[in-house]
Amino acid sequence: MPDVGNLLRDFAARIDAYEPDAPVSAEIEVDGVALTLRAPVVRALAEALAAYHDPRDRGRCDHCGGPRMDENFQCRDCGRLSGLFGRMVTERAASYSPLTEIRDT
Ligand SMILES: [Zn+2]
Repeated sequence: MPDVGNLLRDFAARIDAYEPDAPVSAEIEVDGVALTLRAPVVRALAEALAAYHDPRDRGRCDHCGGPRMDENFQCRDCGRLSGLFGRMVTERAASYSPLTEIRDT
């Protein structure tokens, strides 16, 4: 796990290189690292945070609106299957019978 203070210091240095005299927006200390955050750094940080997409984010449940879908698009809050995949599995399960299985093979 990277050290947060050093991570932010390195990020700010990358952005500061383009506009080292930009107005200072904040001076903070994170994990013992003093940081001067200039306006372009804050804007870049805001854009980076807004653009982040968690790979575990599989959208919201069609049924309860919960954000916690597992890799099979089953909602961890209400337990129902969601999305196109969920509808297909639900429809398939509803029409399944052992005779259907034998007839299809
Ligand atoms: Zn749900």
